Amino acid sequence: MTALKNAARRVLHSMGGLAMLRKRSREHSRVLMFHSFNEGDQTKLDSICAEITKTCQPVSLNNIVEAARGHATLPDFAVTVTIDDAYRSYLTWGHPVFLRHKIPVTVFAVAGFSDGRLWLWPDQIEFALENTNRTSVHAEVQPGNILDLDLSTPASRSAATSQLNEALKLVPDEARLAFIANLESLTGVSIPPYPPANRAAMTWDQLRAIAADGVEIGCHTETHPILSRVASPEKLEREIRGAKEFLESRLWLPVNHFCYPNGRAIDIGPAAAEMVRKAGYISATTTTWGMNPVPADPWAIKRLPFSGDTSPEYAAELLAGLHLPDNVAPG
Ligand SMILES: [Zn+2]
Repeated sequence: MTALKNAARRVLHSMGGLAMLRKRSREHSRVLMFHSFNEGDQTKLDSICAEITKTCQPVSLNNIVEAARGHATLPDFAVTVTIDDAYRSYLTWGHPVFLRHKIPVTVFAVAGFSDGRLWLWPDQIEFALENTNRTSVHAEVQPGNILDLDLSTPASRSAATSQLNEALKLVPDEARLAFIANLESLTGVSIPPYPPANRAAMTWDQLRAIAADGVEIGCHTETHPILSRVASPEKLEREIRGAKEFLESRLWLPVNHFCYPNGRAIDIGPAAAEMVRKAGYISATTTTWGMNPVPADPWAIKRLPFSGDTSPEYAAELLAGLHLPDNVAPG
């Protein structure tokens, strides 16, 4: 960041500029999106939570969805927190902080991952590319779609991981599954049946425990596919309705909210969107960046991307409505 930008930021934060900006989005709800957490995030996360409670009104996702439907009112500056994937790192590093600040949280669990039957597939890719001895691989994402990935440095491995993940989000589901099934022979890395601790899911007991603390548990499919790439209606049914029923049978609680994997419009598709509406949910969250007006479409809840590593200054700006894509007004 340039010195000029730093100076402008200081003025914005110190002269009431953010408060002025925030007023533009007074009646919009803020749905924050987090994923995993690290030990080092604790201090920043504590500051982010302090900013949330100082400048906004924490409410439940239920409250925001009911208001989106026109069935409830919201306080000004309504905000809630969502956590995708239900990694165990949330329990260790995130949950105590949100609980201490009394901020309502919804955790979106991947049924098969929570059940210990699978790793999340982007984590398998990352694990294989981090641990391979090869300095390059010739990755056939699908017939005729080949990526020559340079793995000679940590930076190139990281870039290769992103490139491969993005490519796999665009191919038919069967091609992605075939690629993952071939990952060991491609990289020479043996992928253990269970993910390492830093990529593990919360167990059912842990999910029930955070639910008892007031956390809402929502559904994030059965296996975390890109739903728009799933051609089989039966598989879509398992991922959307089946995952809900399975989560409910293990949690002994209703599961009312759905969260789309990857969550951009191109990742969702009309068939999945229709099935979500018919499967008994009351909302669906996306990764479309933005705030939600009242009323809004409860099947396309927009969110603001956060991480435990987000700087408190940037967090304050996001909460005030800065950094929205294309500088659009909130909504
Ligand atoms: Zn996810």
